[in-house]
Amino acid sequence: MVLLVQEADVPKLAQIMQQQWASSVHAEGNVPVVESLRADESGELPCPACGTAAPLDLTGACTDCGLVLG
Ligand SMILES: [Zn+2]
Repeated sequence: MVLLVQEADVPKLAQIMQQQWASSVHAEGNVPVVESLRADESGELPCPACGTAAPLDLTGACTDCGLVLG
């Protein structure tokens, strides 16, 4: 999927995508581990599946749950 938007619209688009993701998680009866994807004090983003904020392993996977992100 390729989505092209004006740079100024990126924050608004991010908010819409996060709301849709949270809505789909709640619709499936789940509670999201991570409510928003913001870097922690080390600069690492939390894994959307388990919330671990750490560098990915050599295969691009979360070192905690194994979700491939990179
Ligand atoms: Zn993870």
